[in-house]
This record gives sequence, C-alpha cells and structure tokens, in this order.
Amino acid sequence: MMQETKRRLFVTTALPYANGPFHIGHIMEYIQADTWVRFQRMRGHEVHFVGADDAHGAPIMIAAEKAGRTPQEFVAAIAAGRARHLDGFHIRFDNWHSTDAPENHQLAQDIYRDLRKAGLIFTREIEQFFDPVKGMFLPDRYIKGHCPKCDAPDQYGDACEACGAVYSPTELRKPYSVLSGAVPEMRRSEHYFFQLSSSRCEDYLRGWTQGVDARGVSHLQVEVLNKVREWFTRDGEGRHGLADWDISRDAPYFGIEIPDAPGKYFYVWLDAPIGYLASLRNHFDKGQAAAHWHAPSRTSQTYEEFVSDPAVEQVHFIGKDIVYFHTLFWPAMLHFSGRKVPNQVNVHGFVTVGGEKMSKSRGTGISPLQYLDIGLNPEWLRYYLAAKLSARVEDVDFTPDDFVARVNSDLVGKYVNIASRAAKFISQHFDGQLAYMGATDAFTDGARALADDVAAAFGAREYARAMREIMAHADRINAAFDTAQPWILARDQARRAELQDACSRALAGFHLLSVLLSPVLPVTSGRVARTLFGMDRDFTWDDAFSLPRSVRPYQHLMQRVDPQTLERLFDAPEAATSPNPMPGAVMSPTPATSVAPGEDTITIEDFTKVDLRIARIVLAEAVEGSTKLLRLTLDAGESGADGQPRLRNVFSGIATAYKPEELTGRLTVMVANLAPRKMKFGLSEGMVLAASADDEKAHPGIYLLDPFPGAQPGMRVR
Ligand SMILES: [Zn+2]
Repeated sequence: MMQETKRRLFVTTALPYANGPFHIGHIMEYIQADTWVRFQRMRGHEVHFVGADDAHGAPIMIAAEKAGRTPQEFVAAIAAGRARHLDGFHIRFDNWHSTDAPENHQLAQDIYRDLRKAGLIFTREIEQFFDPVKGMFLPDRYIKGHCPKCDAPDQYGDACEACGAVYSPTELRKPYSVLSGAVPEMRRSEHYFFQLSSSRCEDYLRGWTQGVDARGVSHLQVEVLNKVREWFTRDGEGRHGLADWDISRDAPYFGIEIPDAPGKYFYVWLDAPIGYLASLRNHFDKGQAAAHWHAPSRTSQTYEEFVSDPAVEQVHFIGKDIVYFHTLFWPAMLHFSGRKVPNQVNVHGFVTVGGEKMSKSRGTGISPLQYLDIGLNPEWLRYYLAAKLSARVEDVDFTPDDFVARVNSDLVGKYVNIASRAAKFISQHFDGQLAYMGATDAFTDGARALADDVAAAFGAREYARAMREIMAHADRINAAFDTAQPWILARDQARRAELQDACSRALAGFHLLSVLLSPVLPVTSGRVARTLFGMDRDFTWDDAFSLPRSVRPYQHLMQRVDPQTLERLFDAPEAATSPNPMPGAVMSPTPATSVAPGEDTITIEDFTKVDLRIARIVLAEAVEGSTKLLRLTLDAGESGADGQPRLRNVFSGIATAYKPEELTGRLTVMVANLAPRKMKFGLSEGMVLAASADDEKAHPGIYLLDPFPGAQPGMRVR
C-alpha cells in the first residue's frame, strides 16, 4: 500500500429534526457517510463520526404541546427510536447526541458572543403576526387565510395552493392562527441579525466556497458551487448580494436563550449545525474518543486539542435541500467566531421510488422499519445504494426490479457464488489448504491495481464506480474458474495440483473482493474474515495485498431477495381494501351466541364511522403513578399542518400485560377518530385495540392486536 499520512477526520451527517422517525432519505445519507467512514478506518485513519437530534424550534414545541408533553419529553421519545434504525442498517456513529444538550447551549452562546465581538451582530425591529390567544409570534406556516389574489380560503401565509400566487402573510385576507383560530395581530419585535451582507462575510465566503483544502479537495462539488454563485448575485428577494440572517425568535420558543437578551432565543437553524460540535465534544468528554482510536499516544486527547489541530479535516454529508445553511451561514459562523471551517460539504440528492419523488405525507415512500420488519437484509440496501451513488448531486432511484437484479445477480450470483463453488473442492480434497502453481506476482499486482482504483473511488465517494470495478473483477474470477473446469479436474487424480490452483485463485479473488466490499457489507465481510479465512479480526485494507493460505468449510453467507417479500415493502394504503380476514378479532370479544339478530347488528355505514388505522408504537413508556396505564407514542402515518409527521399520544390500560420495551417499534391497530380525552396524566388522542375474555377473572390476559407483516402505519383497517 502506498504510504499515506495518517488523517484525522471529523465526519457528520445532517441532524434529523426530532419530530418524527427516520425516513429512507435519512438512512441513505447515513449509509453513504458510514461507508466512507468505514473505508477511512480500514485505511488506518482516525475518524470521529457523530450525529445528533435537531431538537429545537416551533414545530416541536407545538407538537409536544398537542401530545400533552414537554418538548424535552417529546424529543426523548423520538430519540429512543433512533438506535433501532441505526443498528438495523449497520450504521455506526461513535456518538449520538441532542442539540438541546448542555454542550450545545454553551457552544451556541460562545459562538454568538464571538460573532458579536467580531461586530457581525445587530438588531432591528420587525413586524410580525402575533397570536393573542396563544401569546406568541406566529411562523408563516402557522397563519392561514384567504388568498389575496383568488380569494381561495384556508391558504398558508406564504403561497396559494389554488392559484399558485406567492405573497407574505400580511397580505392574506381574513387571516387566522392555525394554532388557536384567533385573528392575529401585527406586533413589532426586536430581532437579532447576523450581518451576512457585510463585505467581510461576502469576500470570505466567495473565497471559501471556491476553495480547496490542504489535500487539494474542493470544499464544494461543482454543481453546488454553481448554485452558491447564484446566491451571491441575488438573494431570495431579488436584491443584490447575500441577505442578513434573522437569528432570533421571541419567547415562548423551544431553543437556546440569547445571552444578554431576555425573552429572545436563537432560531433553530443557528444552533442546529453547532450540534455537530456539541456531539463531538460530548464524545470526547465521555472518554470514548480514545476507545475508537487505539493509539496510546492519543488516549489523553481532549475536544479542545482535537479541534485546534490544523490537520483535522471536518467533513459534512448533507442533502441538497440544506445547502444554503451549510455553505454560507455555517462556514461564516465558524470563521468569524475564530473556529475551524469545514474541509468538505458533500451534498447528495434525494431518494426517489420508481422515478417518483417521495410524498411528504408518506405512503409512497419506503419505510426503513418496514424494510427491516419484513426481513429484508440491510446489506442488500447498503449494496444497492452503493451501486447507485456517485459524488454528484443526483437523486437515487429505488426500483424493485433493479434492486432484485443487483442483489441476486451481482451480490449473490457473482460475488458469494465464488466462495460457495470453490471452497467445497478445497475442503473435500485438500483439507482446507490453498496452494498456487507457479508465480503469483501477476496475480498480486492485479489485486494491488484494483484495490488502489477502488480506494480512489471510495475516497472520492464514487461508490457506483467502485462497485462496477468490483463486480467486473468478480466476472473475471468466475470466468477463470469456469475455464479451468474444476468439476472435471476433480475426477482426475493426476491433475490435483491444477484443481487446487484453480480453486485457490478463485478463493484468493474472493478474499480480495471481500476486503474491497467491507465498507459496504460490514457484516458479511466480517463473517468471511472469521468463518471462512479463520481470522480473529475484521479485514483492513492491507489484507487486499495478501494471499490467503487456508480456508475453513464454507458456511452460507447470503440469501437471494424474494421478489414477493420485496413487494410487501410497497404495499400502498389502497392495497388494503380486501375485507379483513378476521373481523371478529377487530370488532369485539363478545361471544357470537349473545348477539341477537335485528337491532343489535350495525350497518356497514355504522362500522365505517370508526376510523381504524395501523399505527406504529414509536415509544411505549410506564406512567408514573399508574400500574395499569402505558403511555404510547403512535405514528399513524399522519402529517401536521407543517407537512411534518404527526405523532399521537395515547394512554392504554395494558401495563399489566406488556413491558414498555416489548412494544416499542411494533405495529398495532388504533381508533383514529375517537374524541381526545383529557386524563389525569395528559391528553389521550385515540385508542389501541386489544382482546380480552368477557370473564377476565377466569381467563386473564390482554392481547394487543398485531397486524400481519406488510401492514404500514396509516393503512385503514376495514
Ligand atoms: Zn389564490
């Protein structure tokens, strides 16, 4: 391997907003970053890979209030569901934190003070709608009214969905607050601004956005730079240059208080990226940074030492929707507060399904938990995404046929197949010993060239190119194996050396491919290293340059995708129109004999008044002061006025039957249109269905309904 300086890397993914579970777009970004991180670690580099929940802002404050909980409780419930996704897809962050953590409060206030010292903070009075009932200023999305152009009712404060007109909320006719229905009043308030329009900022950002880091890598991809150039020319409102940035919000607000400004909070987008640093600091303070990096000389390193090392590279992975924040605000905030700026902001596109953009209200997307629940292998998705990801800002399309083809023909048919074909001859005839006839120089030179090419591709995030080169090599290995015809050699005692050589070369090739695929297939490659090649560790990149000397008997490595299983990933709500096969289980445990015909029956219209929905138990918790109730946070595939997923809070008398941890993540059936009920412990917004015997004393037990696999949150039960 080419001697390479040891790199010190600080890697992040965008912080997900903590008002709902991960969607497939999050998972794609994390897989992209996790693959890159695993590759860098295999090369021997020091990497600190952190994430956090983006916890602040009005949408979370309002959603929490609706759920009858504090914002902190609400965010904690969401955070509790994160590990299942991350572990499920083998995404290994070193630390997962929250932007509401003390480290972030401290860092955000420090950075603000430094920016103020640099003379880049100023205040200005602005006029804004105020909800007199809720006693708060209203974000644009929380004001509705009649369109000023076409008079369509119930339009949002920024644009009309009927005629497409764009306007400001002050232009709405008959405006009302979405939160209380009250007529909003115009009020003046002093806001704090970051002076992005200053020539200092603009000059610095023009330089940084076009710049390259010490390794010669551009800070931005070329298409991102082109977009940023447009912003320098003209801001959103048609003015020349960059606009100043309003960084404050008035109380009540769930966020971080602005120093020396009572009742003022940082706008969520100011403290969100600072959460990268807060999570990194928390990681170091916990003393875990050293554990991930077993270099004795570094065991005492601190956050301060790390971030002040000019050799540290800061690398962000983000989606194309948040480029403005990460290429203008973020580097400016860091630079003018005297901190390290990013080396790379790596932007990716969205996930589309069958060429269509995922709908925000979901239903047409792919649910990551559904993927895991129906038993699809997480490494299939990792491989599929790798086979489609490049360093460009392109959308990645998920197509079922393509998925089946790539997994079954590439991964299983080309790659795994090599080991299953060759290893059995070696085990049967040579007691697991590999031997190569003649010189192996050409063979190892070829391996070296391929490994270097694939390394360059991984390093540049050209994963699709890496996968193409790997699969092309798998084709060559299979072709050589077929040409040698080992099944014929095996019948001829005189040609045993040839047989051993052909199988050894195939297995050496498989060994090489497994090393190269390790960043994408961490579990399978780990199993190959240990169970097939008898190693006591996972592969490192240098293993690509060594020839294996023995193998153990082949053990099954990977299944093919069953297209019928994959179909269940796409079960749309419309597909659930067939009658429920077990209506008795849904309706009532009342014995049939006690139902008299006539007035005791209901019509189908009566039945359809009950809106039954599949719901996912995002979190189940014990209720303090109650031995009967559990507090359930349910996702029934709904979204709120802001287009964000909406979760429901439901209290259920099932605590005697289930432990909270048994329920978290599972699906059940919920009555969605039951009037909300104020209970001693908070508001209950629905009911989950469970069966129990009429005579509970004789037949104790409560049984929560559990839909067949394939059901998705939000599907109607009928
Ligand atoms: Zn209109």
